[in-house]
Amino acid sequence: MSTKYVYFFGDGKADGKAEMKNLLGGKGANLAEMSNLGVPVPPGFTITTDVCTYYYDNGKKYPNGLDAEVKESLKKVEEVMGTKFGDPSNPLLVSIRSGARQSMPGMMETVLNVGLTSNTIKGLIEKTNNERFAYDAYRRLITMYSDVVMEKSAGIEPAEGMAIREQLEHELEKMKKDRNVQADTELTAEDLKELVTIYKKKVKDTLGKDFPDDAMEQLWGGIGAVFQSWNGKRAINYRKIEGIPDEWGTAVNVQTMVFGNMGDSSATGVAFTRNPATGENVFFGEWLPNAQGEDVVAGTRTPNPINEDGKTEDTKHLDSLESKMPELYKQLDAIQKKLENHYHDMQDIEFTIQDGRLWMLQTRTGKRTGPAAVRMAAEMCNAGLIDEKTALMRVKPSQLDEFLHPMVDPEEEKTALELAKGLPAGPGGGHGMIVFTADDAAEWAKKGKQVILVRNETSPEDVHGMHAAEAILTAKGGMTSHAALVARGWGKCCIVGCSALDIDVASKKLSVNGEVLKEGDWITLNGTKGRVYKGKLPLVEPDLERNEFYSSLMNWADKHRKLGVRTNADSPADAAQARAFGAEGIGLCRTEHMFFDPKRISAMREMIVAENEENRRKAIMKLLPYQREDFMGILKAMEGLPVTIRLLDPPLHEFVTLDDKQVKELSAELGIKESDLKARINSLHELNPMLGHRGCRLGIAYPEITEMQARAIFEATADLTSQGVKVFPEVMVPLVGSSNEFENQRELIVKTADEVQKEKNVKFDYLVGTMIELPRACLVANEIAKTAEFFSFGTNDLTQTTFGFSRDDIGGFLPKYLDHKILPEDPFQSLDQNGVGQLVAMGVDKGRQTRKDIKIGICGEHGGDPASIDFCHRTGLNYVSCSPFRVPIALLAAAQAAIEND
Ligand code: PEP
Ligand code: MG
Repeated sequence: MSTKYVYFFGDGKADGKAEMKNLLGGKGANLAEMSNLGVPVPPGFTITTDVCTYYYDNGKKYPNGLDAEVKESLKKVEEVMGTKFGDPSNPLLVSIRSGARQSMPGMMETVLNVGLTSNTIKGLIEKTNNERFAYDAYRRLITMYSDVVMEKSAGIEPAEGMAIREQLEHELEKMKKDRNVQADTELTAEDLKELVTIYKKKVKDTLGKDFPDDAMEQLWGGIGAVFQSWNGKRAINYRKIEGIPDEWGTAVNVQTMVFGNMGDSSATGVAFTRNPATGENVFFGEWLPNAQGEDVVAGTRTPNPINEDGKTEDTKHLDSLESKMPELYKQLDAIQKKLENHYHDMQDIEFTIQDGRLWMLQTRTGKRTGPAAVRMAAEMCNAGLIDEKTALMRVKPSQLDEFLHPMVDPEEEKTALELAKGLPAGPGGGHGMIVFTADDAAEWAKKGKQVILVRNETSPEDVHGMHAAEAILTAKGGMTSHAALVARGWGKCCIVGCSALDIDVASKKLSVNGEVLKEGDWITLNGTKGRVYKGKLPLVEPDLERNEFYSSLMNWADKHRKLGVRTNADSPADAAQARAFGAEGIGLCRTEHMFFDPKRISAMREMIVAENEENRRKAIMKLLPYQREDFMGILKAMEGLPVTIRLLDPPLHEFVTLDDKQVKELSAELGIKESDLKARINSLHELNPMLGHRGCRLGIAYPEITEMQARAIFEATADLTSQGVKVFPEVMVPLVGSSNEFENQRELIVKTADEVQKEKNVKFDYLVGTMIELPRACLVANEIAKTAEFFSFGTNDLTQTTFGFSRDDIGGFLPKYLDHKILPEDPFQSLDQNGVGQLVAMGVDKGRQTRKDIKIGICGEHGGDPASIDFCHRTGLNYVSCSPFRVPIALLAAAQAAIEND
């Protein structure tokens, strides 16, 4: 643990720097860095994340020496500002904010205007010559402090509607009504002074304690509340969703207050150095004249665009900062350029203009949508700001998912009933049923319903519902409101500031432009344009290939990755889709679904219930032409690339789970007595079918199945080869646990290949290999590799058989395992590298001991999971194979694995 607890910043110098994020949190590290860069930052200090860890490890006590360090830094701040904390004639006021390593927008607490007391307010009035402003600041402090420090942090859980913040807001509304005014700004200094007295009494009556009238007491109260909020409900929820470790802790930033609400020459704003929704390289942001930062972020006032370029149809009538304060805008624009050039990444900045002077309050790497991440990475690389490797590392593989997200069908959209317009906060389209609370959203979604969460403004308490919803719609708020930030971080369709909505949560209804909609009614959002439509409009898939930024990034990924990427596909359409996404072959073609086609299932059933080999062969051969056609289609779709076709795998009884009526029909069709048929079906029943008569055990017991499938594959290969189509089939035997099993099947396959080549008088290449999906197969991989020409790890079954968890029934206990941290994540989604991974590594090692250049891949679900792909890279696999829509993710993850590990 570091022994320095407090880091000063300001006046062109700082104790910390950008690299110290772990210790100072993102915000603190960047405030230090900005100070070092000479950007105007109000001076302050950061209390480290180590203190947070200490605080929780030691029964919520602070380490010795913290107090002295805080005092010392406070003194430096006072010197820079020429003010004094708690001084009645010239008071320093500070803000107290959280700041974790990774941004957690709105999830923890903030207190502003700390240091205002009945004494110091006199000095503030004198200094600003603005009594109204001073009392406005005071009533804001009382509201925030009583809510955050005296209520939430003290663990008080008020009854519905009785929270101190709500009660104080109620008093404010009452006064506005009394004075017959609409806006807060219309209340006079005298009104606010009276309100402060009312507030203090309300605080005392409700919380049983006086509002603290000592600046130091306020400071420590605020610091404690921020540390407490690290373990607040919404912060914990957010960490769970984002995978942020609980041990990281938050830093606390104490910083000189600057005011954007000191009159018309003051303002505040939030901006991005590039557009965070589209990635376009234009300075993009929002501002409000005469306002505090929270007014922009909380979404209580819809903000103005920062510049003329940023105006849209909906905001063109509003004043930009560029036109209202051109000199300050120029200064801000120069700073944003400096920051982006320094950090080499898009920055999310907060600024305040106090009485004509610009202050930067924050800079951090800006959250962005997937398409924006790709565009920025590509454009920054093309401009020489970053190199290809950095560009590749800038995009989270999962963000590519957003490219694959559907959009509202543009044709249908033209004639759809538009209910309202709002701000396009998160791209793509979404449709669902209206729900009005986050809890309802989560609950309905759990039942498999598609929902859209509609709120006035989404508070951080709504995170779980926002996560569960298809899309989010709010009546208030701007592009930088909390709702917009969170949705964008997830790449979720979201519209904010849709002011035409009149929402009545109590009766679960909303009215909008003369229409009344209730809970459960369908609406559709176009989050890219900010349009809300009535009803359920169809969504269409986006056109990836035509996105030049995506293509550049994928070209760089191809250049840097070592792993091949194939796809798991069972139909020509899926194969073609995956190929368009960049798949380099098929790593797993499961053949079982092909048998479920109504035209084929009866031949399959006839085969299964046949009493002898002759009848079985007769039945199975009926399937040959169908299978040949299947393979022709798939091999052709993957012309020039390898196609791994797996022989039949599932337990036979899956094909004969029949009700009484179906048994009757089948017995008539096959001319078998109903009772005989039933007896045969019963005999196929297994207690543990996943460990039963499946995989290569089928082909061993019924060789005619293997023969038929091999013949279908090779006849298709021969025919295509004669037509000049280049195909590379790889026949794969499932669920092998010993070299004898494999050998048994391989001989049949090779024999069939020889026969077909003779019969058709064509020569062709093919491989015969095996799935490695049982622990024993890993243990004896050296023996299996004597004749197996390739391995493909079936990590679904390998996970099942290594853990002894049934892959179909894990849902019964997995949530508990995750809650109790017995497992870090679902091992069927992300490979258990410690356990199952050892078997994979052993299989690779042993396989290569026997056959140095044996081709090895993975085709379990893990083939599309970035962390597992990293493991596959490190373990020396040749390729991963995943479902078509995960191919882009795998391509990028493979490149990232190469960049990170080599
Ligand atoms: C596996 O077990 O990982 C695999 C790919 O096969 P299946 O999921 O079809 O059992
Ligand atoms: Mg399997």
